Amino acid sequence: MTLRQPHDCTRCDARIHPGEEFAAVDVLDPDGEIQTLLCPACATALREFLDVSDDAADAVIPERDDSV
Ligand SMILES: [Zn+2]
Repeated sequence: MTLRQPHDCTRCDARIHPGEEFAAVDVLDPDGEIQTLLCPACATALREFLDVSDDAADAVIPERDDSV
């Protein structure tokens, strides 16, 4: 995924330019869906807040059952 135009980090307002690393965050909470972009520093902070690693992420999210 690449950016076509600059965006501001939702959390700290750091400018994210096309070609730079960033995080696309897609969250579903009781109030609805949140789709936002974070700079790498804020993405790291989010990981620490959620206490997840790459390995743990798959374990936390149950597999979707589309067969119903
Ligand atoms: Zn940020």
